[in-house]
Amino acid sequence: MPTSNAHPQLRIDIVSIFPDYLAPLELSLVGKAREAGQIDVRIHDLRDCTQDRHRTVDDTPYGGGPGMVMLPEPWGDALDSILGSDPSRTPVLVVPTPSGERFTQGHAAKWALGDWLIFACGRYEGIDSRVMEHFGERIHVAEVSLGDYVLAGGEVAALAVTEAVVRLLPGVLGNSESVVDDSFAPGRMAHLVEGPVYTKPPLWRGLEVPEVLLSG
Ligand code: SAM
Repeated sequence: MPTSNAHPQLRIDIVSIFPDYLAPLELSLVGKAREAGQIDVRIHDLRDCTQDRHRTVDDTPYGGGPGMVMLPEPWGDALDSILGSDPSRTPVLVVPTPSGERFTQGHAAKWALGDWLIFACGRYEGIDSRVMEHFGERIHVAEVSLGDYVLAGGEVAALAVTEAVVRLLPGVLGNSESVVDDSFAPGRMAHLVEGPVYTKPPLWRGLEVPEVLLSG
């Protein structure tokens, strides 16, 4: 269902072994955008694509070292199934990883113009690299990092990227002007951040709103 003639509905698929982690996508701005049909969010449990009784998604790493690595087979099956569900769209497979390119407002702006984001949320020591190599030959794969720190899984990154993208979609924010004035917004704010903001009352606990803002 298109949201307007100019912009197709954005579809977002998120694959995780903790689908409940994505529950915040039912709330607030993203939740409202879902209700309004502006986005189509589908959450998938990676374990549904396992073949064994224990629903195994990981194994020991080749080359040794601590921790476990996510198996390629469940990822291959999960992503094949998602990709096969709509050949008319142009997907971007977003793989959160600390070794990826730093995620920026520029990525968000670009992906808000697209029609399909698929997130592969890693856990443990990450996803077998052949998954990214294989799908990179079929579709655009973007390995992105939230910053120079290590999270326990890709779900928080999927939430952050989804929110950054969805708030840029036409009609999602009440006041579309606020997107233009945002920190890092392409154009005059590209390398700038928004200054401090104030509201009423003009005097609070002895602290005044700067005079220049009071004059309108
Ligand atoms: N062993 C990996 C390393 O040192 O780079 C860290 C793996 S981390 C424990 C598990 C998963 O969390 C990653 O596969 C990735 O999906 C996610 N993750 C962790 N830190 C992240 C970050 N800074 N940005 C994006 N995703 C991150």
